[in-house]
Amino acid sequence: MSGLSKKNKIVKIRSLNETKKYGMAATNLKELLKKGCKLFQIPPFGSRICLYEDGTELTEDYFQCLPDNAELVLLAMDESWTGFVFDMSLLLNTGRNSGLIIDAAKGLLSEEQSPKRRKLLGDLLLHIEDNSETENRSDDEDWFQGIDVRFKTKSAYMRYNCESRIRGYMKEVDSYAQTIQKPKLKDQYRKIVECFVMQLKSDKYNGCYFNRTEKEHERLCTKEGWFTCQGAFDQDECKSLHSINPYGNRESGILFSTWNLDHRIEKKRTVLPALVEALHNHKNSNINLDYFYNLLFTRENLKLVHIVCHKKGAHDLLCDQKKIYQKGKRKVFLVCC
Ligand SMILES: [Zn+2]
Ligand SMILES: [Zn+2]
Repeated sequence: MSGLSKKNKIVKIRSLNETKKYGMAATNLKELLKKGCKLFQIPPFGSRICLYEDGTELTEDYFQCLPDNAELVLLAMDESWTGFVFDMSLLLNTGRNSGLIIDAAKGLLSEEQSPKRRKLLGDLLLHIEDNSETENRSDDEDWFQGIDVRFKTKSAYMRYNCESRIRGYMKEVDSYAQTIQKPKLKDQYRKIVECFVMQLKSDKYNGCYFNRTEKEHERLCTKEGWFTCQGAFDQDECKSLHSINPYGNRESGILFSTWNLDHRIEKKRTVLPALVEALHNHKNSNINLDYFYNLLFTRENLKLVHIVCHKKGAHDLLCDQKKIYQKGKRKVFLVCC
């Protein structure tokens, strides 16, 4: 039996209250306990030794199987050690215990000096402090800090946030007219821009994408407000599983502004030049404006991506030549040109 082995085993041992480890050699658990109790001046009665890693209590057989330099903790009778790798599922199921975990993390953070550990604790706090179930200003004042008083609910502000992004795209489309030299062409382009504006107004600038109170097929988030990165323009999904709930707390709300509604087929590099090119060759009435509208302003061509999944280089995706021109009757909503 391995328990009879006389080979010395070297371990690293500490007491519960000290972080300093001591190297120690013993041929069996009994001997190790005796030496440890002497070193740390712990009463032998009721004392135990367990793994530092996960708190597993050692038996004589287990001791014999330990690798050299195993890290151990010596416990006095009333002490216990659950290991440093605590149960992650406990941490994730924070519905009940989040208050306790938040307090503990805040306590640790206030004393923490190491930048790396500060970052870990800060991130933990960021994601655990979740007030996403509240919607009204009066129920989460902190979330609304610095946000105009006219916004009474989180959803109203998030809708505005999305609208602003789409309005920004509209501005770029508008100012693209300046790059067109020929007056007649510029005129035609301006007319199309007017159509886009009308359509955007009737679509309320697609603010629904960020509004969690919208119908499921209108919004990009869950009804709780969780957004999932849709992956870089050339990927089917986000391998990093990026997600964020800007409704949850103020910092997440601010961080969400670094998420991009990215054009797969690029607006300035591809879509607008293709539109102008089409105007060159055809009358306005022959151009499939629905197609261009969808490319510029709708989720048909927009992907919500985490900044890491927002690739800055050229996308090299082209407009579909078969969709650029009208086939048959024109749709009602873009009759203005
Ligand atoms: Zn991503
Ligand atoms: Zn982009």
